[in-house]
Amino acid sequence: MTIEISGFVLENQPYKENDALVTVLTESGCKTIYARGVLKTTSKNRVVCQPFTLVEMTIDERDNGLATLRFGRVLTYYHHIVSDLTLQSVCFVLIPYIKRVDMRPFLYQLILSLMENMHTNTEKIYTYACLFLREVLVQEGLTPYTSGCVSCGRTDHLVRLSLKQGGFVCQSCNDSSYTMTKKELIQVHSLFSVKENQIDEFVSMYTFDLDDFIFWAHWLEYYQGSQNKALSFLQSIR
Ligand SMILES: [Zn+2]
Repeated sequence: MTIEISGFVLENQPYKENDALVTVLTESGCKTIYARGVLKTTSKNRVVCQPFTLVEMTIDERDNGLATLRFGRVLTYYHHIVSDLTLQSVCFVLIPYIKRVDMRPFLYQLILSLMENMHTNTEKIYTYACLFLREVLVQEGLTPYTSGCVSCGRTDHLVRLSLKQGGFVCQSCNDSSYTMTKKELIQVHSLFSVKENQIDEFVSMYTFDLDDFIFWAHWLEYYQGSQNKALSFLQSIR
C-alpha cells in the first residue's frame, strides 16, 4: 500500500552499500523506512533522508517487512542544529527517549517546537527540552515529589530539590549545604504540574537553561540506572 507521511527525520543509518535505514518521527511514533540508493551523491532522495529535516514522504508499506521510500519533499531543513555542537548533542541525548516514548500529537508538536526554537536559536530552547523530559519522566513514573518535603511531608521551609531523595526537601531534611531560591522551586513545581493546554503560557513565564536540561537528563539516567553516552559528552563540552 502506498501512503503519504509527514514527519521529522531523526536518524539515518547506512545499510548495505548505498542504502539507508531512515528513522522518521511522526505524530504516531517512529517509523523505520528503507531508502534505496540514497547514499549516492546523485540520488534525488538524498536530501529528504538527512537528519533534522522536516519532510513529507511517499512510502510503500508492506504487511511484513520494512516500508520503502518512493520519493519525498523537504519542508524545512534545520541546518542551524547541525552546525551547532551543543544543540546537536542535546538532540543526541533526546533521540533514544524520543524513540521510546509513547508518541501522541501533543508530544510531537512539542518536539517540533523544540526543533523550531533550536533552529531559530531562541532563549526558550531548554524550556521545550525540559518539557519533553518531563513527559518522559511522567510516562516512566519517575517524577520528583514536589508537593512537600519528600522525607517528612511538611509543606513549608522547603529549601531544594534533592536527586538522591527524589523530591523537595525541607530545611531539617536537607543533607547538603546547597539551597535553591523560592523562584527556582516554583519553576520546578510548575514543570510537573502544568497542563497541556497551558504550555504556551508556561513557556512565556519560565525560562530553563542548559544546566536545567542536564539536571533532568541526569535525573532520568539516575533513576533508570542506565547511562546516556550523549549526556556525558554534552557535559564534557559544557
Ligand atoms: Zn523534611
